[in-house]
Formats: sequence, C-alpha cells, structure tokens
Amino acid sequence: MRSLRQVEALIRPEVRSLSAYHVQNASGLIKLDAMENPYRWPEELVDSWLERLRGAELNRYPDPSAAALKAALCRANGVPEGAEILLGNGSDEIIQILLMAVTGPDVTVLAPEPTFVMYRQIAVSLGLNFVGVPLRQDDFSLDPDAMRAALRLHKPAIVFLAYPNNPTGNLFAADDIRRLLDEAPGLVVLDEAYAPFAAASFMDALPNYDHLLVMRTLSKLGLAGLRLGFLAGAPRWVEQFEKLRLPYNINVLTQLSAVFALEHPEVFAAQTARIRGARENLFRALQALPGVRVYPSRANFLLFRLHGKPAFQVFSALREAGVLVKFFAAETGPLAGCLRVTAGTEEENAAFLAALRNAL
Ligand SMILES: *Cc1c(COP(=O)(O)O)cnc(C)c1O
Repeated sequence: MRSLRQVEALIRPEVRSLSAYHVQNASGLIKLDAMENPYRWPEELVDSWLERLRGAELNRYPDPSAAALKAALCRANGVPEGAEILLGNGSDEIIQILLMAVTGPDVTVLAPEPTFVMYRQIAVSLGLNFVGVPLRQDDFSLDPDAMRAALRLHKPAIVFLAYPNNPTGNLFAADDIRRLLDEAPGLVVLDEAYAPFAAASFMDALPNYDHLLVMRTLSKLGLAGLRLGFLAGAPRWVEQFEKLRLPYNINVLTQLSAVFALEHPEVFAAQTARIRGARENLFRALQALPGVRVYPSRANFLLFRLHGKPAFQVFSALREAGVLVKFFAAETGPLAGCLRVTAGTEEENAAFLAALRNAL
C-alpha cells in the first residue's frame, strides 16, 4: 500500500485540494435538480431509433471526424458559413479541452459568479488561475465596470459567459456582452447550454468577432444521457483544440443517436415549448408564495430565495416529500438561502409546489 505521504508527493496539490463533483442520489424521487428534459420519445420514434441502432458497428471505432453528425449539428443550430465545430463528450469536455489548450502558470480564466461551477473546477484542476467577478446582487446582471476592471487587471486568456446563466437563469444584456467582446484581450466563450429555452443567441455574431466561441450541448434539449456538446468558432482556433480532443471521444451510439434525433426536430420543439410553458406557470406560482423570491429565467429552471426558512430545511422537507431540487451549500454569499428547481412535467411541478407549500 502506498502511504498518504506518497499520494501527496505524486498527486498535484491543486488536484488534492479539489472536491469531486457531487451528484445527489435521486432514486425514487421526482428529479428536478439537474435541468433534464422530463419527456421521453413517442413509442414509434423509439422503434425507428432502435431500428437505426441495429446497423451500428460496435466492433469498429467511431468515425473520428463524425462528419455526418457535424453537418447535422451545424444545420440544426444555424452555425454560420465559415465557422468550424469541435465535438465534445458533453460540453464539460469542451471546457476541459479549451483550458488544456491555454494552461500555464501565469494564465487566468475569468467568469462572472455565481455561474456554472465547471469553469472554476476544471481551471483549478489544470493549475490555471480562476477569477470570479461578482454579478450584481439584486438581479444577477453583469457588472460592466467590475468586468472591465477585471479584464484590464487579469488579462484572462478565456472569459466564460453562460447565456443564459446557470444557476441564476437570467440572460445577460447583449449590449454588456458586446462591450466585453470589444475589450477582452483573449477568447470569449458564450456557453449557450440553454439555447432551446432562451430565444437569444450569439451564434449569428460569430463572423463579427474572431475571438468569439459559441458552445452548445444536446443535454438540456433532451439528450443528457448521450453526452454531446459542441463549440463553434473560427477554424484557426478549432484546429488547435482538435489536437487535444481524444480521437474517438464521440462513440458510435452517440453519433448514430444524435443524427437520428436531429432528423426529428419537431419532437424536441414540442417538448421544449411545453417546458417553457411549464417554466412560466411555475414562475407565477412561486411568485405568489409568501416568503419566496423567484428570479426571472430564460432557461428550463428557476432560482428562488427563501426568506424566513433556512434553505436546507426546505430542501430536506421537499426530499422527504419525494422531490429533489438543487441546494447550494452556502451560508453566505449571493446564493445563500437559494434553491434551484428544474421545470418538469405539469404533474411533477404540481407535486413540487404542493410539497413546497407544506414545507413553508
Ligand atoms: C448543464 C450545463 C453544461 C453542461 O453540459 P453537458 O453538455 O451536459 O456537459 C454546460 N454549461 C452550462 C451553463 C450548463 O448549465
């Protein structure tokens, strides 16, 4: 057995000091913690998908360039002519590839916070400096002066902006983002994981900025189990990132299934429209609850703050009642007292609201 001392000698200190990404056990619970699409496919669609899978050659390595899938993704997402795309095993992997490409002892990555935790987690794991710039307290909007000052001071190699932002749900003002694009010394990644719910995007702006990269995923659309994300941008950047992508990161089943899914956009359009409707109903219901402040959202989830009851107590009561939401283990700071709930089916949302009313 190797001793703890040997672990300390071998494993980088930044890795030792990280905590692993924790996922709540959801068995038997109504799962409203992870921004999944709650709907399955119609049975006929499942049948034709299985028929398609019959042709999968599991004995062969996947197509390393995934040409068919890339073409389908570009078409479905309106990727502009002249832009290239990079595929990742989820957009999490793309974040890792981007950061591996720039890492170095004096390199900084910047994002407004609170935001998607993987930017910080992966940056720290790779030995990069991570700078989080606080969003405005009252509405989680970007603080343009603070961002500008941080850009000048830290000269980040990459700025991440989740658009809409997770876990706050809001869309940053497009003018604020354009100003950041004008001032950023390095790359700016617009993370559009929630594009299916947002009705806003910087995809069309790609030809105007050679340092802009737009990242999307199929996860929140309804294919979280497939693990497929992509990054669109100028070929000279994508070419470099391609060198770090492991050759067969998108497996045969994912390639076939994603191409199949993209041939049926109407199914996902109907599901995401339903989820957007559910989000609005949920927003109004939460707004009507005393002791609850709910924040406007352009994603498929809502952040709300509890006044009068500790968030952990409410989270636990919800779980007792069979509903899992996201609790932020923060006693202080911008997410203190907050919970995040994913918009599920109408029945799931009704069960959540009933349990919440009880808990308050
Ligand atoms: C969920 C989420 C992702 C992760 O997407 P995967 O493709 O499932 O890895 C990326 N960015 C944001 C902002 C998210 O909320």
